[in-house]
Amino acid sequence: MVFKYCAECGHKLEDIRLGDDDCKICPSCKRIYGNNPLPVVEVLVVNELNEVLLLKQNYISEDKWTVVSGYMVEGETIEEAVAREVKEETGQIVNKCQYVSSYYFEPKQLIMIGFIAYVNKSDFADSNEVDDLKWCKLDEVEPLIARENNCSGMHFDKCKKYLI
Ligand SMILES: [Zn+2]
Repeated sequence: MVFKYCAECGHKLEDIRLGDDDCKICPSCKRIYGNNPLPVVEVLVVNELNEVLLLKQNYISEDKWTVVSGYMVEGETIEEAVAREVKEETGQIVNKCQYVSSYYFEPKQLIMIGFIAYVNKSDFADSNEVDDLKWCKLDEVEPLIARENNCSGMHFDKCKKYLI
């Protein structure tokens, strides 16, 4: 994430080189800002019938569907973030999760950490972040999944080799 102003005191940041890294420094309080992406988990949820769970979030797309994603929270592991986001956004309980691939998402300077999460199909949560949810057979996903300005489609492609 590239900062322009100090989050502590609001001064305009200046460039500084620390070791091999280009960083920013606040000329007032001397806080250092690294040029680091924010980690986000991206999760394809699969049930015991080999159906995948797609989410409709109107603030992301009016017509396309996505997979679960969310920012890490301070103090948790990546695996805990996967289970928490899946529970919050869909109500499903993760039995097991598996790392698949990561993606750099340039528009928002995020590092998307892609997992598959295996669940037993259960009732959907009523999350105010999600407008709709549905289980899809593998051959139903392609026309629905978001590929523009979103990593869901790319992540689905990478997960295919783990899906029967
Ligand atoms: Zn400052």
